[in-house]
Amino acid sequence: MTRAVVSLNSGSSSIKFALFRLDEAGTPIHAAGGKIEGIGTAPRIVARADDGSIAWEQQWPDTGMTHEALLHELFDWAVGHLGDNKVVAIGHRVVHGGMTFAKPVRIDDALMEALEALCPLAPLHQPHNLAAIRAIAKLAPHLPQVACFDTAFHHDMPIVAARMALPRAMAERGYRRYGFHGLSYEYIARHLRMVDPNLAKGRVITAHLGNGASMCAMHDCRSIDSTMGFTALDGLMMGTRTGSLDPGVVVHLVEQEGMTGPEIEKLLYRQSGLLGVSGISSDMRELHASDDPHAKEAIELFAWRAARHAAALMTGLRGLDGLVFTAGIGENDPIIRAMICERLEWTGITLDPEANARNAPVISTADSRITVRVIPTDEEQMIALHSIATLNLAQGVPA
Ligand code: AMP
Repeated sequence: MTRAVVSLNSGSSSIKFALFRLDEAGTPIHAAGGKIEGIGTAPRIVARADDGSIAWEQQWPDTGMTHEALLHELFDWAVGHLGDNKVVAIGHRVVHGGMTFAKPVRIDDALMEALEALCPLAPLHQPHNLAAIRAIAKLAPHLPQVACFDTAFHHDMPIVAARMALPRAMAERGYRRYGFHGLSYEYIARHLRMVDPNLAKGRVITAHLGNGASMCAMHDCRSIDSTMGFTALDGLMMGTRTGSLDPGVVVHLVEQEGMTGPEIEKLLYRQSGLLGVSGISSDMRELHASDDPHAKEAIELFAWRAARHAAALMTGLRGLDGLVFTAGIGENDPIIRAMICERLEWTGITLDPEANARNAPVISTADSRITVRVIPTDEEQMIALHSIATLNLAQGVPA
């Protein structure tokens, strides 16, 4: 093995990364992965090798470490860790591909300009995704980089699911529902085809419940609807985001409270959701640990709204064969899964409490009409696979 690919998922306060060696056939073999957290406050990194051992752990005492400086450190470490395996590509998660980008693309200046223009549509993510691309381009100008879009998986969803009930001409200006978390859904679809091909052909709702949260209705592994829409704000209640909200509230905030655009953006993206309702934390584990009734209320609202959106997606699917839970909460939180499934019992879901408690791959009973699964997502692997395909690395063709 002589080549390697690095996947980066760069957010506002964290950077997730994974290193893959390529075998002869260009198949990515996971070599290490981890996360830099606390960017802007006290950054720390933990990277684990493939055997689970800690490959790098470091904390930086002050706030002087910018995204760019941290990416620099990460890149140097990755090159060292990979040894003889030369990094031949960097793949990035890019949240918004707009109307144009339906598949991953190799990055160049013209693409960066087009992606820059989409920043207002994903202010929480897109600027950080692009900053990481620029930082790597500075460090290694000749290294090919690939943008993998979270919107791409939903690009061909039926027009009825994509359209917003706004004047027709606005659709041509890009006012449509895009859907997000596409790399996660694509990974789940791929995994489902391997572990449960019959279910993969059917009607499946995947619930990506993390700090950002959404659901995707899939039929035969294709997206037919998503709870996220024009931006990653719509749909489920999230860590700090409202999810669906009566648009009249926004008009009222402007007209009656005199709030500005940036103030409203901060309110809806950063101060609401679990954090806003509980007044305690955006982190589900902290809410479970709290005795405060507001924490309980936030948890209940989260589950209630998730079940409500799942029911709405079933209409588009005309029924349901399977429900998949993924991401931080979806993969690890039996209480939330049970709360959501309990509200959906009427659809034919019967949970197996013991399997649910241990986050088993299948958490429904053998006679449940609907199969409920837990599948750990792996967006970084999806990014690596896309980068390999986009740059023809599987055929050994140098990019
Ligand atoms: P993510 O954005 O996918 O990293 O997910 C972050 C969310 O997952 C946070 O709300 C965490 O509290 C939650 N989470 C992670 N691990 C657990 C766990 N073991 N139990 C409950 N929630 C968890």
